[in-house]
Parts: sequence; structure tokens; C-alpha cells
Amino acid sequence: MPSFHGQTKLYGIFGYPIGHSLSPLMHDMAFAYHGLDAVYLPFAIHPAQLEVAVKSIAALPIHGVNVTIPHKQAVMAWLDEVSPEAHMIGAVNTIHLRGGRLHGYNTDGIGFLRSLDEAGGQVEDRTVMLLGAGGAARAIAVQLCLSSIRRLYLANRTPTRAEGLAAFLKQNFPYADISVITMGESSLATHLPYTDIVVNATSIGMHAHDPMILPSTELGPRHLVCDIVYRPLHTLLLRAAQRQGARTVDGLGMLLHQGAQAFEIWTAHTFPTTLIRERLLLALAEQPTASPPPHKE
Ligand code: NAP
Repeated sequence: MPSFHGQTKLYGIFGYPIGHSLSPLMHDMAFAYHGLDAVYLPFAIHPAQLEVAVKSIAALPIHGVNVTIPHKQAVMAWLDEVSPEAHMIGAVNTIHLRGGRLHGYNTDGIGFLRSLDEAGGQVEDRTVMLLGAGGAARAIAVQLCLSSIRRLYLANRTPTRAEGLAAFLKQNFPYADISVITMGESSLATHLPYTDIVVNATSIGMHAHDPMILPSTELGPRHLVCDIVYRPLHTLLLRAAQRQGARTVDGLGMLLHQGAQAFEIWTAHTFPTTLIRERLLLALAEQPTASPPPHKE
């Protein structure tokens, strides 16, 4: 059993509900690997209590906090500093208490890019079809625009959200080639032959009866298909893409690398990525299904 005392440094994650978060497992393993006297706890913070919770970080103190659904945007109101990337994305997933001040970062986009890089996927000069316009899609879109892609197709169930994201990106990256396309079979089928990389950044795929998000028979060996959903790891989309001869990247790499980046911000120690990937794979095999959806209140 680990023992905690007055010198033990506290870290954690704020979400609601916090469900089966894998972050405590990842960070506690990384602390143990480096022999750091620290512990990482999940905190289920009701939205009405978020302000109090964030204002308590410095008092307790909690040295580092990850932020997840539904708090990534709201939390920004009570931070002292926000990194340029997080500011542009409009969401924070990592807080570092440094010098008594709360610094906010967003490591989702860079985590996604690192996972792609690890799988040998280059984004430079590639055409990317990004499905989704929520928090994760926005973080990925900003990172893609910072990475010299050739063209970005954006599709979302609610078209106005995709249009809003496109307008925001065009304002910040005036030279980027960005088109909003319809999230329907025929529109996606028309654009897939011109696409190199497909990214599912919607929550479709998390639940057993979710439909196929795109016309999978249009996929082929020219495509690299990424699904950021990691529960289940082998989503319907990835299985279909593999059958069509496409290369695939699952959501575990993004989870791992967004966590690695946060850990490195907090501790300046390297994250033991290989070791933790193996442990996460075991955890996902033990608990392959998603948590219930967040409360809408
Ligand atoms: P979010 O902000 O709530 O956005 C959800 C997105 O999914 C929106 O684009 C939404 O479209 C779309 N969507 C939801 N239900 C849909 C449906 N039935 N049909 C079509 N589209 C649907 O959530 P998020 O934070 O971006 O997260 C999205 C997914 O990424 C989640 O599964 C999350 O677990 C995963 N994720 C993974 C990582 C990782 O490290 N691997 C990191 C972050 C998130 P509308 O705009 O039309 O509602």
C-alpha cells in the first residue's frame, strides 16, 4: 500500500462525472516510476462547484490538475495565465500551479499529433477530413493548422458548429485551405478520394449500437484512418478501415501523449510511455466499454 504524508504532492483530474478515468492509473504509475512522492486523484466536481474547486487548487494545494468534460471551457475563467494554444482552442485540459499562480494548457492537439507521428503518419502537405466540431476536434484542428497541412475538410452533425469552427480557423490561419462539407454519406463519399487522413473526433463509436460514421467502402489503402475514441479501442470505423486496406491509428496514443505532455509540464520528468501503454491496454481489456454520458444540467 502506498503511504501518504504531509510532503506528498497532490495531483488530480476535475470532471463530472469522472467515471472510469484512466488518468489516475497513468500518472500514479509515472510518479512511481520516477520515485516521486505524489498521488493523483479523480475529483467529480459538479458544474455549480467548479469555481470553488478551481479557487481551492492553490490553497490545498493541488500541484497539477487535468480537466475533462464538461469543464474544459468554463475553467478558463479562473486561471491566471493561459497558453497561446489553449487560448486559441478555447479550452484547457491541464492546469499547473506554479509560483502560486494557475497556468492553463491544452495538450489534446499535440497529443493527437504525437500519436500520429508515432504511427508514421505525416500531416504536412496532406488533406485531412476531420469529423466533429466539439472540444477535441477544435484542439486537433488548431494543431493541424499549425502543422502545414494542405487542406482541411470539416464535417459535423450540427453544421453550424463546423461553420463556426471553420470561421474561427480562417481568422487565425488566413492562408489555410478549409472547407465545410456535409456529414452525409454522399458528401463524405465524394470527398474521400481526395483525402489522405480521416480523423473521427466525434463520440460516435463509443457505444455498441453506434452507426458507421462514414461510407466505409470508399476507404482504401491511400487512407490513414484515426479514431480518437479509445473505449472501445477497436472501433467499428477502425475495423472497417482495416478491412478496406487502410492504415489505422487508435485513440490510445492520443490519450497517452496528452497525459505525457501534462506530466512533463508538471514534473519536468519524462513520461514512461512504453510501460504505461502496456498497462493501459490491460485496463482497456478489463473495462472495454464507455462510461455513461455526462449529465446535462
Ligand atoms: P464534445 O465536445 O461533446 O463533442 C462531441 C462531438 O461528437 C460533436 O462534434 C458532436 O456533434 C459529435 N456527436 C455526438 N454524438 C453524435 C451523433 N450521434 N452523431 C454524430 N455526431 C455526434 O466531446 P469531445 O471532448 O470533443 O470528445 C469527442 C470524443 O473524443 C469522445 O468520445 C471522447 O472520449 C474522445 N476524446 C478522446 C481523447 C483521447 O485522448 N483519445 C481526448 C479527448 C476526447 P454535434 O456538434 O452535432 O453535437
